[in-house]
Formats: sequence, structure tokens, C-alpha cells
Amino acid sequence: MKITDLKCTVLGQNPVVRIVTDEGISGYGALESGRHYNRPQVLYYKQAILGEDPTNVERVMLKIRRRGSFKPWGSAVSAIEVALWDIAGKAAGLPVYKLLGGKIRDRVRVYNGAVRFPMTGYSPEHYAENMARMKEAKEGFTIIKQGIGFHSPMPGRVPNLFYGDAHTSGFQGNRGLLTEQGLRHVIACVEAMKEVLCDEIGLALDCGPGWTVPDAIRLAKALEPLNIMWLEDLITGDYVPYTNAGVYREVTQSTSTPIHTGEQIYLRQNFKDLIEQHAVRIVGPDPFDIGGIAELKWVAEYADLHGILMAPHGTADGLIGLAALVQVSATLPENYIAFEYPVGRPDWWYDIVDGLPDPIVKDGFVDVWDRPGLGVTFDERAAKAYLPDGDGDFFD
Ligand SMILES: [Mg+2]
Repeated sequence: MKITDLKCTVLGQNPVVRIVTDEGISGYGALESGRHYNRPQVLYYKQAILGEDPTNVERVMLKIRRRGSFKPWGSAVSAIEVALWDIAGKAAGLPVYKLLGGKIRDRVRVYNGAVRFPMTGYSPEHYAENMARMKEAKEGFTIIKQGIGFHSPMPGRVPNLFYGDAHTSGFQGNRGLLTEQGLRHVIACVEAMKEVLCDEIGLALDCGPGWTVPDAIRLAKALEPLNIMWLEDLITGDYVPYTNAGVYREVTQSTSTPIHTGEQIYLRQNFKDLIEQHAVRIVGPDPFDIGGIAELKWVAEYADLHGILMAPHGTADGLIGLAALVQVSATLPENYIAFEYPVGRPDWWYDIVDGLPDPIVKDGFVDVWDRPGLGVTFDERAAKAYLPDGDGDFFD
């Protein structure tokens, strides 16, 4: 089998990658929502992989892997990797999880990082009210993540939160020392959410990046009695192109509250310091940023070897991402907690993809399916209606 074409379009919010072969089998991958600007980058790799056998996934990846980087520049490479596995599975007539070594669980736990209800404010009461709505969500999530501090509109909306000028565009991000009032406010919001969830549902918090070491330690220690699932990306994370493992280690060693990072990190080599230095308790790579699903599995196993837990990121990965996350998460070792459940946006994504269970999430879990490849396929006739101008031949 040979690769004859590599295509990329944008369907709704998610760029979609299609690898075409000379045997009539195509493989699909995708990128996080909003990554339309990665489209030319995907196509940049086309010349490198044309003519290769897509079922030799690693051999193809060796041709392009070194020309990627931290989020968002690892996502094009990652999407191609996922599309290669999709082809390899379809060619073998096996679900991708079988090619990765087989599943060790029949259903995978997911956590809520994407089923959202609009926040009406940023006081403890607002957080409690919003958390109550998420607690009642039909998916029955057993873990819910919420953004606080610098990973929320708090800097621009809560007066005197920190000793700095708030940037509200979301592009630059905020960073600095919190005021005493600001720190108390954040803690009060977390306490209000925990009062809603009690000990029935786990609460994870996406916090930054942007916290200083003393504030990160103060927050983590103050929250110790609440048994928070994890504090995510306090120091670095999101689009920060480095890890700062030594600084994370200082925070982790100071508290029993689990510290988490990893969603923006590209390749296993960039997890080495975090894992070997025991700098965090949980890593959370995204299959569409780390370099693909085999890379994510390798990091999960290396983390497990070091007593570190795994909770993959995925909020913006769309329905192709959901399929990839289900396949790989079925195979991860027992340090696996849950992956971040992505939704299709806009809603018509659910009309153009076949193969997902209905309902997708039951009691906070997704049943692992057995169809070949990623196990989801496009209803091409329905999907064609949403192709952008100029991409009408994407499925041809
Ligand atoms: Mg995050």
C-alpha cells in the first residue's frame, strides 16, 4: 500500500486531515478546534510521506517528526500519525487498540472539560451554581474540571486579584503574584464547588499557567483538605513552549494536592525531566499535540514506571479526537485516570460522523468499540455540505 495524497480541510472548528492510499483506504486525523492556521503546515509534510507505506506508521513518522514542536506546531504531525493508525487498522480489519497491544479495559472513563454552561459571574455563588448544572449533565461524569485563577476570566473580572495589569484578550495570558484577597477569592470559589460535588464527584482545576511558586504552594496546601483531583498547569502549560520541571518539582514536593501538566508538550523527550524528576503527580498529554497516540501510550507507560498518573487532555479535539482517545485510552496502563471528553462543534458534527455509540457517555464512561481503524467514518454525503469553498473535492 502506498500513500497517494495528503489533504486538509476545516470542518466547523476542527481542521481534518485525510491520507489517501492506492488501495482505496483513507485515514483521518484532526487538529484542535481553532487551528485553521495549521492547515498549510499539514500540507507542508505531503512531499515527505507520498509513496510511503502508511501501515509502517513509525517509519513514516521518522520522516516528519523532527519538524514539529510544542503546541500548536506539533498538532499537524500528530494528526498525520493518527490518520496513519486509522489506515493501518482498516487495512488489518482491526480496531487501532489491537495494533497498540490490545485493550486492558472495555470502557474508558472520561472527565468533563468540554460540556459547559455559560458562567454568569465569577463569585463563589456563580461557581457553585455552574457546578450544580454540570453535576446534573446527562453524561453522568465522575470527574469535572473547572478553570480558576489565571485559567479563567478572573484576572479581568475580579478586582484586585493580583499585582499586575490584567490582559483580557486571552492571547497573551496573565502571570504574577496574587493579592491576599485574590488568593482567598480563588479558595472560596473552590470550596463552593466542592460543597456542590461533596465526595460524590471528583473536582479537577485548570489553574494557569501564570502562578508564582509561593502562590502555587499556598493554593495547593490550602486545598489539601478538599481532596482535589489535580491542579493543572499552575506554572507552565497551554501554549508555553517549555516545561520548567525543576519549578514544578518544588511545588509538587510541597503538597499532597496532585500537580498536573502536559497538554502542550510535544514528544516523549520533553516529558523526560517532568517524569524522571517526579516533578508532577499526573501528566496530561493531548494525542493531537504530543505527536500522536503511540507517543501518548509510550509516555503513559514511562510515567507509570515512575509512579506518575495519566489523564490525557482532549477538550478541543472534536469527534475524530474522541475516537483516537478512546482507542488509545483502552490500552493505557493502570495509572490511567480518565481522558478529557471532547464534543463536536458545531452540533452538526454529530450528523456527519458514523460509528459513535448513542449515547456516547454512560455514567461517565465510553464503551470501547470494535470497528476497524479509529472506528468512526464520515457520512461523506452529509459532510460535503459543510466543506469550505475550494475544498469541495476533499472526500473525492
Ligand atoms: Mg488545561
